[in-house]
Amino acid sequence: MNTRTKALLNRLPGGAQAALIHNPSNMRYLGGYTGEGLLLISPAICAVVTDFRYIEQANMEAPGYAVHQTSSPTTHNVVAFGLLKEAGVTNVAIEEDTVTHAQYKALVAAMPGINFVALDNVPEALRRVKDEGEIAALEQANGITAKAFDYICGFIRPGVTEKQIAMELERWVQENGADSAAFPIIVASGPNGSLCHATPGPRAVQAGDLITVDFGACVNGYRADMTRTVALGSISAEQRHIYDTVQEAQKRALAAVKPGALCKEVDAVARDYIDAVGYKGRFGHGLGHATGLDIHEEPRFNTTSTGVLEAGMTMTVEPGVYLPGVGGVRIEDSILVTRDGCKVLTPATKELVTIPVG
Ligand code: ZN
Ligand code: ZN
Repeated sequence: MNTRTKALLNRLPGGAQAALIHNPSNMRYLGGYTGEGLLLISPAICAVVTDFRYIEQANMEAPGYAVHQTSSPTTHNVVAFGLLKEAGVTNVAIEEDTVTHAQYKALVAAMPGINFVALDNVPEALRRVKDEGEIAALEQANGITAKAFDYICGFIRPGVTEKQIAMELERWVQENGADSAAFPIIVASGPNGSLCHATPGPRAVQAGDLITVDFGACVNGYRADMTRTVALGSISAEQRHIYDTVQEAQKRALAAVKPGALCKEVDAVARDYIDAVGYKGRFGHGLGHATGLDIHEEPRFNTTSTGVLEAGMTMTVEPGVYLPGVGGVRIEDSILVTRDGCKVLTPATKELVTIPVG
């Protein structure tokens, strides 16, 4: 049994003798398995339950787990029930944030006599602090991401559309070592820049635009996250002021990151600064989030988060200012919380990049 699986068993909520894992990221974290199906974890048995399509893959990816083949995805629960009965298990923890109501009803119907309890996000808690291998994957993903940013700055010119920029980034990261893009790429130009999560559209970028690109590479399942806003040609004094404000807010927030810091306090450092220089209410989202196998993990930086930073957590720090009609600026780095502060994992400049128009 691997150490992550052991750690899960050591932290099972009261009364639970086993866990059924349905969340794909939790399956990957605990068992190394990236296919469909479920994991059954108890002191007596660690099993992948899946159908014909994934048997070979499960045997390769999940050493230490017994692979049990079902005749079809609908019989997973029948097979899992047989294993639980064999092990004498009656109390089983399931992922309350993953298992749907329909899945829950199917579990109850297929497993008479089994009592289900919430797993209380134990896998997600284990995933908060990254180990060396996870950090190495994230460093690699962030390195590719920063190189992609350099590349795209040379690609952007007046007339290319947001969608072309997004597609070019996607292609570049895939051709340069990433499994895939880490999440759907955001490109927001000119007036679209005030939409923090804009979908790249047909708008052609033009001189005087601020262009925000928010994207990342995924390596071995680990997801980088980076945002930069660049200027196409010369921009207005107001646009420049927004940029300088966000840059300073980000710098201050990074300086506040250290083990023991409360997530809402780090958020407040950036937010208070943005509010104080005259953009109160224009930074309408949280300061950041943990990253890993999922692009958004716990803890989060926002105004209410009681999360406490620990060395080994990987987070983003991404303040922004959004002004309808003027545009928006966001600067986002991925970071690693270290013993005495943080290490920025995004090796890219935060000085304003101005792309020449001529
Ligand atoms: Zn992002
Ligand atoms: Zn982010």
